[in-house]
Amino acid sequence: KTFTKEEIKQIVVDENVEFIRVTFTDVLGAIKNVEVPTSQLDKVLDNNLMFDGSSIEGFVRINESDMYLYPDLSTFMIFPWATDGHGGKVARLIADIYTADREPFAGDPRHALRSVLADAREAGFTAFNVGTEPEFFLFKLDEKGNPTTELNDKGGYFDLAPLDMGENVRREIVLTLEKMGFEIEAAHHEVAEGQHEVDFKYASALEAADNIQTFKLVVKTIARKNGYYATFMPKPVAGINGSGMHTNMSLFTKDGNAFVDTSDEMGLSKTAYNFLGGILEHATAFTALANPTVNSYKRLTPGFEAPVYVAWSASNRSPMVRVPASRGNSTRLELRSVDPTANPYTALAAILASGLDGIKRELEPLASVDKNIYLMDEVEREKAGITDLPDTLLAAVRELAADDVVRSAIGEHIADKFIEAKKIEYTSYRQFVSEWETDSYLENY
Ligand code: ADP
Ligand code: GLU
Ligand code: MG
Ligand code: MG
Repeated sequence: KTFTKEEIKQIVVDENVEFIRVTFTDVLGAIKNVEVPTSQLDKVLDNNLMFDGSSIEGFVRINESDMYLYPDLSTFMIFPWATDGHGGKVARLIADIYTADREPFAGDPRHALRSVLADAREAGFTAFNVGTEPEFFLFKLDEKGNPTTELNDKGGYFDLAPLDMGENVRREIVLTLEKMGFEIEAAHHEVAEGQHEVDFKYASALEAADNIQTFKLVVKTIARKNGYYATFMPKPVAGINGSGMHTNMSLFTKDGNAFVDTSDEMGLSKTAYNFLGGILEHATAFTALANPTVNSYKRLTPGFEAPVYVAWSASNRSPMVRVPASRGNSTRLELRSVDPTANPYTALAAILASGLDGIKRELEPLASVDKNIYLMDEVEREKAGITDLPDTLLAAVRELAADDVVRSAIGEHIADKFIEAKKIEYTSYRQFVSEWETDSYLENY
């Protein structure tokens, strides 16, 4: 749905909206916003709202700091939660970032995704459809309102209340999202204690990325309202499942889903196989974007339903890519490595560029693996051509730095800032001595 400026102005009056929040995402995936009273609405709608880019992580240097926010009118939405007596309603618009010279800003993750989507259109595709399955944990808050590491329940996969204490929170999350226009397909307790998943309907990539950012904001807001803290940290508790964000993908042309070929044994088209070939080819390089934190690599370990190896399968959930059983318009590839700390814009840009490269070069995927990879030894894996995903953030960043296709998908500006920031993050982690180390070494040496 898209709005005209006039429609937005009318809604703002009719609904007593008092503040407009103009949001964007920085290179590291954090949502930022500039909030203005509705007296400034014309300025916002005429692309004249400015902000200081130098104060945002990974943007620009001080001397080139003036940036414009160009709101995407189709993203207009009124937040459905109450402002507790602090004024009327708050609406938001997601913006693209433009430089002082009114050019699209190379450091804007949304712009990076737009660019790769333009490449996809050039290759004949009308949409890159993406449906994600974000998982998260609910933790209790302490008396001061700070998050603890105490889980909110002892429930497991698809459990019901009273074991599943998160049920009411999850229901409120679902109802809030529905008010905001999301089509919720499923919501359930996940495998781990305190862990939940809410699935919403796929959308074209740019909208899907916007939705992920909105989703995280809603989950955190509603959890806190209910006395819980929601986290998308990939592995908050050792020894139990972590949180992934499975990413289901398909390319559409004007004739429908381009991954479908009913004459194929698996029902997949050459386009789907080549896209998959590209995904496997560039997986180690886009992992830094799909799994961008030190903690991400604690999830990508054997035994917790998260992938460790670059492989695909139709039947088995252990590889990185699964081909879900649904066919017809739901024919899709499910990339299981992605976690919810990924910046959805740059991660999707990198993943799409990888798939398009596969299509361009007609890359064939290696044979599918239909047994549990965790039960194969290293020799068997090598024979099957199965390689490892990077095992640390630093290894992943090095792979990213060496892959031209993935680097150019996000653009050199973002690539440089991202790699620099992640190296600093890894060094800071390495300088910390953990309890595991003192437990393992203190008395032995
Ligand atoms: P799982 O098989 O892992 O349980 P879910 O049913 O939980 O998968 O989630 C499926 C996701 O895939 C949903 O977000 C759904 O909208 C999305 N999806 C369905 N069809 C397509 C498609 N053609 N392209 C991309 N995503 C799709
Ligand atoms: N939580 C698992 C992960 O880390 C995924 C579980 C599932 O299959 O939904 O990816
Ligand atoms: Mg799940
Ligand atoms: Mg899944």
